[in-house]
Amino acid sequence: MNNYHINTKCIQEGYEAKNGEPRVLPIYQSTTYRYESSEHVGKLFDLEAEGFFYTRLANPTVDSVEKKIAALEGGVGAMCTSSGQAASMIAILNICGSGDHMIASAAIYGGTTNLFAVTLKKLGVEVTFVNPDADVEELQKAFKENTKLVFAETLANPALVVTDLEKFANLAHKNGVPLIVDNTFATPINCRPIEFGADIVIHSTSKYMDGHAVALGGVIVDGGNFNWDNGKFPGLSTPDESYHGMVYTKACGRSAYIVKARVQLMRDMGSSPSPNNAFLLNLGLETLHLRMERHCSNALAVAKWLETNDKIAWVNYPGLESNKYYSLAKKYMPNGTCGVISFGVKGGRENAVKLMDNLKLAAIVVHVADARTSVLHPASTTHRQLTDEQLVEAGVAPDLIRMSIGIEHVDDIIADLEQALTQVQ
Ligand SMILES: *Cc1c(COP(=O)(O)O)cnc(C)c1O
Repeated sequence: MNNYHINTKCIQEGYEAKNGEPRVLPIYQSTTYRYESSEHVGKLFDLEAEGFFYTRLANPTVDSVEKKIAALEGGVGAMCTSSGQAASMIAILNICGSGDHMIASAAIYGGTTNLFAVTLKKLGVEVTFVNPDADVEELQKAFKENTKLVFAETLANPALVVTDLEKFANLAHKNGVPLIVDNTFATPINCRPIEFGADIVIHSTSKYMDGHAVALGGVIVDGGNFNWDNGKFPGLSTPDESYHGMVYTKACGRSAYIVKARVQLMRDMGSSPSPNNAFLLNLGLETLHLRMERHCSNALAVAKWLETNDKIAWVNYPGLESNKYYSLAKKYMPNGTCGVISFGVKGGRENAVKLMDNLKLAAIVVHVADARTSVLHPASTTHRQLTDEQLVEAGVAPDLIRMSIGIEHVDDIIADLEQALTQVQ
């Protein structure tokens, strides 16, 4: 299906009904698969025959969705996980372990920061956080002998920093390590990081890919371009004793990374998605291209409207010409960035809370990036234990409101803000 536009792939890729079969991807709600000979099952275990044997490792519904997402991102293969957090964890542990070091952009999702700084640290992985805007000379200083990867987000949640993907990819490759990119906010509709040199792409599919806030999920996509045989990744280039001495780079070629992630880490850690959730994710993917267009045009209109309102102190959206990341956004996401914006209300914390409590259409929720407009005030919720000074240090201004613009009519979203702002002095 390589010649179709990405919009067509959203709908058609990954599942093809044969004569008389269901037109729509079926939910294979089965953990198990029947075979007629033990010999066949043996071959499956040895990866000599293709087929399903246990849903922890693979399932036909999940498999179709994985093929679709791999095609959308332009990768050689993909593996779905039970959440975005599981995708980040497996993507890293697949090539990095106790005694190793990794570099991560400081502008990443808070849950990912915790995973890296607390849990991976406990597992013996050392992490250096870097300023994504630093120049190449400065970033180079973060590399060590035992550095195994670089990690960044295309469009950071919630800071909306746009990462210079080519800068990070070139630097990673110069040091013989891959670049892993979390592409959750941009989605493959707006940016395909592999085209800019990323080696592995991950997503929390719980956000725009699902798009309806109904199913947690994650995915890892293998770009298939990185040379794992450079001596730094013995886990891929030397025999895996837990898999009959298989050498992934020899047995699986360009898919070595994603095959290892599945047959070794998913086998052992078991954070698999349910077939039912994969079905829901697939429904979301079928309209991803339409929804992203509307999320972006609505968000830009709301951001522009807020910019001209004199009760608003500041607006952060990379689609605004006034934004620090406007030119990087134009380069990497020429068709739009995402539906999430942030802004500050004059009068600080107190007025931010007042504005939010008076919104009627936009609901206060912790989630972002689904069809319904929602807001969150980190200073009084997720970050409420911090003082105003600590908030500023964490990059979360006390007046910051994060607004995830949905796909309702934009006039209704703006009218809601307008009426709520009349309550703010
Ligand atoms: C939400 C999110 C995650 C974590 O995903 P879950 O599905 O909630 O586990 C990771 N990265 C980014 C950018 C996110 O927005």
